Amino acid sequence: MNRARVLLYDSLMSYAVISTWKMSLNGALIAGGVLKNGGTTLEAIKAGINDVENNPDYLSVGYGGLPNREGEVELDAAIMDGSSGLFGGLMGVKGIANPIDVAVALSKKRLNCLLCGAGAEKYARLKGFEFKNMLTEKAKKQWEEQEVKDNELLSLASYNGHDTVCFAARQENSLAAGVSTSGIFLKTPGRVGDSPIVGGGLFSDSDAGAAAATGDGEDILRGCLSHEIVRQMEGGRTAREACETALFNHLKKMDRKNLKVGPISLIALGADGSFGAATSLDEFAFIYTDSDNPPEVWIAGAKTGMEKAAAERLNQYARD
Ligand code: ASP
Repeated sequence: MNRARVLLYDSLMSYAVISTWKMSLNGALIAGGVLKNGGTTLEAIKAGINDVENNPDYLSVGYGGLPNREGEVELDAAIMDGSSGLFGGLMGVKGIANPIDVAVALSKKRLNCLLCGAGAEKYARLKGFEFKNMLTEKAKKQWEEQEVKDNELLSLASYNGHDTVCFAARQENSLAAGVSTSGIFLKTPGRVGDSPIVGGGLFSDSDAGAAAATGDGEDILRGCLSHEIVRQMEGGRTAREACETALFNHLKKMDRKNLKVGPISLIALGADGSFGAATSLDEFAFIYTDSDNPPEVWIAGAKTGMEKAAAERLNQYARD
């Protein structure tokens, strides 16, 4: 380990949280509070994601999420504990009020921890998790309007109605990452993106760092980007350098293959105490907080790097 890394370890903050999109601001506050009170990284991530899952105003996660082509809300969620190496996840589930809660329960198991569809719902029922109709009037209306205009997913502008809430958390030397999403609006029923796939939508190793991704899931999976970020941090890069290296190398590679790539945004926390993000968008908002700093909105840009968002810039930022 080189000297710079040792120095960063010396100044390690006791806890930190990073999360995607402005919609996770309150969740990051809640997650930070859990860690401050001595909670685990998994407890903090669950609490932070629950806040977004339960808010019907956010049309891309949990209750109020946008439906698939047939008008049904199909949800994905996963969590990975970087200390034990255990993970749990759900794919394409219907009616589960808080998919991240079930993912956390599954992450206590070494095998049978990533469940899809009917099997996942059966497990959640058996374990007594809450079920409800996840399709709100607002989301249904958007589906009906979109369906009337056009039934083709590919004709939708990228990021039109999809954003995953991703959290990474550190408590002392322990790291974890978690995600929850309704996936891409008007997706083919049964479609799964990167979010619940370990290595794609999330990855965590407490020796190196934790990372998670949002954007066009198929494009994220093609580069196993969350794993790649953690691998870059293991090689000595800070969280920000790792996100940028993973993203821009991937984009170059896809370009060489002449493959069109949709928007991708990445966040990470390093075991060295660093945090960072990278994006292919002009603007991608994320939240960062730690033991010394309250949650604040940061904005990353493909050409501008990342900076804390000044009030004026925040006012102009239109997305969730
Ligand atoms: N990555 C998610 C998916 O492909 C969507 C998103 O994050 O916007 O399902």
